[in-house]
Amino acid sequence: MKIIVANWKMNGDIDLCDKIINSLKSAIYPESIIICPPSPLLFMFREVKFKYGAQNCSTNLKGAFTGEISPSLLKSIGCSYVIIGHSERRNLFCESNDYIFQKFKLILELDLIPIVCIGEKINERSYYKEVLEEQLKYFIKHGDLNKVIFAYEPVWSIGTGIIPNLDDILEVTSFIKMQTQSKVLYGGSVNKKNATEILNIASIDGALVGGASLDPNEFYEIIKISEKIK
Ligand code: PEP
Repeated sequence: MKIIVANWKMNGDIDLCDKIINSLKSAIYPESIIICPPSPLLFMFREVKFKYGAQNCSTNLKGAFTGEISPSLLKSIGCSYVIIGHSERRNLFCESNDYIFQKFKLILELDLIPIVCIGEKINERSYYKEVLEEQLKYFIKHGDLNKVIFAYEPVWSIGTGIIPNLDDILEVTSFIKMQTQSKVLYGGSVNKKNATEILNIASIDGALVGGASLDPNEFYEIIKISEKIK
């Protein structure tokens, strides 16, 4: 089964947690489902069979960093994963590759699994390899990436309903896999209509789902599709 990560962004509430927990009770491979709600909702998932993770974390373990969330606190409440480098964090909060790498090291030291988002902007498409190489270079230098998950998210596809053609997804994710030897997800406008064709791309280990993960019925359908794919 492929890995399916739900990124709720700054959406969702206790009611949505209840609905998702309920709809995923019959999931065949709960270990392959990772729900990433806003951090105050993480406690809702403590008793579930599937995995859960945070959408971000601090570059520090503790101290005078008002508003930040320590990765060790995330670990203590049962998170297994932390998304880092999402394009919204890079673009809206000016997070640099170096800053993202500081989080990456802490996450690995704590034995959590980073889900590292990378991807080119629309004007960078013609030289995407250079862009991705630049985003990847710190992680590759670090070495052992076998536990790490990369999510290829072309920025122009996030929340737009537009996806790259399937051959392009195959080409880019194969490139990332070759560079990192890690699991690679695709993210950007995945929904129940395109999930089958996307998840069947050979180089993809799963999907990172934003908007469609906020609708319990639609998300459940994506999970059912992923359960059928080896
Ligand atoms: C995302 O934000 O990581 C994402 C993939 O969003 P969407 O599925 O809504 O494009």
